[in-house]
Amino acid sequence: LGSEVEVESGASLDDEDGLLGGLGIESTSDIEVPDRLVDQVIGQDHARDVIKKAAKQRRHVMMIGSPGTGKSMLAKAMSQLLPKEELQDVLVYHNPDDGNEPKVRTVPAGKGEQIVDAHKEEARKRNQMRTFLMWIIIAIIIGYALIIQGSVLLGILAAGVIYLAFRYGSRGNDSMIPNLLVNRANQTTAPFEDATGAHAGALLGDVRHDPFQSGGMETPSHDRVEAGAIHKANKGVLFVDEINTLDIRSQQKLMTAIQEGEFSITGQSERSSGAMVQTEPVPCDFIMIAAGNLDAMENMHPALRSRIKGYGYEVYMDDTIEDTPEMRRKLTRFIAQEVENDGRLPHFDREAVEEIILEARRRAGRKGHLTLKLRELGGLVRVAGDIARAEDQDVTTREDVLQAKGRSRSIEQQLADDYIERRKDYELTVNEGDVVGRVNGLAVMGEDSGIVLPVMAEVTPSQGPGQVIATGQLKEMAEEAVQNVSAIIKKFSDEDISEKDVHIQFVQAGEGGVDGDSASITVATAVISALENVPIEQNLAMTGSLSVRGDVLPVGGVTHKIEAAAKSGLDTVIIPEANTQDVMIEEEYEEMIEIVPVSHISEVLEVALAGEPEKDSLVDRLKSITGKALEREVGQ
Ligand code: ADP
Repeated sequence: LGSEVEVESGASLDDEDGLLGGLGIESTSDIEVPDRLVDQVIGQDHARDVIKKAAKQRRHVMMIGSPGTGKSMLAKAMSQLLPKEELQDVLVYHNPDDGNEPKVRTVPAGKGEQIVDAHKEEARKRNQMRTFLMWIIIAIIIGYALIIQGSVLLGILAAGVIYLAFRYGSRGNDSMIPNLLVNRANQTTAPFEDATGAHAGALLGDVRHDPFQSGGMETPSHDRVEAGAIHKANKGVLFVDEINTLDIRSQQKLMTAIQEGEFSITGQSERSSGAMVQTEPVPCDFIMIAAGNLDAMENMHPALRSRIKGYGYEVYMDDTIEDTPEMRRKLTRFIAQEVENDGRLPHFDREAVEEIILEARRRAGRKGHLTLKLRELGGLVRVAGDIARAEDQDVTTREDVLQAKGRSRSIEQQLADDYIERRKDYELTVNEGDVVGRVNGLAVMGEDSGIVLPVMAEVTPSQGPGQVIATGQLKEMAEEAVQNVSAIIKKFSDEDISEKDVHIQFVQAGEGGVDGDSASITVATAVISALENVPIEQNLAMTGSLSVRGDVLPVGGVTHKIEAAAKSGLDTVIIPEANTQDVMIEEEYEEMIEIVPVSHISEVLEVALAGEPEKDSLVDRLKSITGKALEREVGQ
């Protein structure tokens, strides 16, 4: 018996152009990769437009979205769009009036090096002059000592003193050479500084500690000044991902820096001699791109957030994009980009590209979409390419991609697989026979892996009004599921559910999450089975949401759930009809499991219940009742 679901159907959406969107290439080496980073970005049209606009208007941007969707890529792309004519070098000078407040000067990019060189040259000449002078004086003194005083010892002594005096004195000369704090010579684009996870010193600048603070061995304070990311980003882009993890004080200072456009540098470590030094303000006129996921926004310093909001844009990054021939062509270009950027991988042939595109569909987890979590997909490209390279192949093939998929499993997938294995060891997964009140449900763990999650129900006469008693955190969900089915149960069952206690247990639910109401057909089936005392097939698992009228509604993560059921040794899985197009299971599972799409709870029972006579009458009754309910609805 083959599945009722056409699994290959992934490839049938809008496919007259083929998986490569009509590209007539042999391999990705035939594809031209655009030069500008902004043109390399796949999808994210909205974010890209915002970046272009913000670059023109010099606005800050807040980017919220999943990791690996191109936030830092876009930030970098923005730096390439900024004018490089405005770049500046920053010099720090010794302040003769106050050694602890070095002076700061800005000059056009490239000038800084010239100035430092000129100072060095001058110092060298001065030193030469002094050395010349020194030898003359020494000669005179030795002459004087020898000829007039007739004492060799005195001559040597006097010469030594003069020598030391000159050497020591010339040290002071170095303090005249400025410190080139920010050097933008030969820079081809505006700077891009990634300050993600930076500590205060790296972000705001620092003044190094001086272990010798006197006695001629000290380093002058201006020479110990170090630029922070905010200063290096002057006239460019400062990118901070996971903005909420930046400590509040740093966020506050960052805000001051944004407001003032300049920020003095001081030693960040309180007990160091650097803390005594504070420079004149150093320019930090940057565009800030703050990034993070949704809760980053909540935990961010509110004033900083409103600063960005008030003077910039906020964009949300897409996780998926509609699967069109154009997008598939772009994804093909993405593979070419990743290969070129890596520089060592063999290009991908057509079949290998097709396999990656199928994987992009699978990972989207949404009908007719492709994933935009391209960092991870890029990881798959690299692993596949590495496999091909290790074999000295000229191109990366479909075989390599398939192997790579096995190797680059996420932690959650590895955990889930381990969990499935362990449950098998303890025989917690029942996958044969039939049992009253027990149903194999399915849940998603992490984002990309499923687990089998059995549900048990027991119905007992109630002392008072009937209650739903469920284990722990799942109570609310179970209650809702029971409420949804009770309308149906009331219609067909002679039993009065309001006089019963319904006990529901999610067996070993601790390790995985149960997402929303995707277990509601599972709960309903378990309750009906317990109530009517009709057993349920255990070689089967199910997932689906339920309306009060008994319609089975779509849920998330079907592909991963089906794979989990297959891995657990089950041979049938019930899914909502509306989810059939989301099914993109790996080939290896296709023969292992039969997929049964359903649209009504009566169909679920028809497949799931065992024990012929009772089952038939129950299902018939349910059908007739809901049928009537429907007619009534239509008649109104
Ligand atoms: P984020 O900052 O959102 O975590 P990155 O910008 O660091 O993600 O993305 C990591 C890598 O993934 C990029 O260097 C690029 O190779 C690839 N990538 C991610 N998103 C895209 C995209 N929209 N277009 C092209 N490549 C992308």
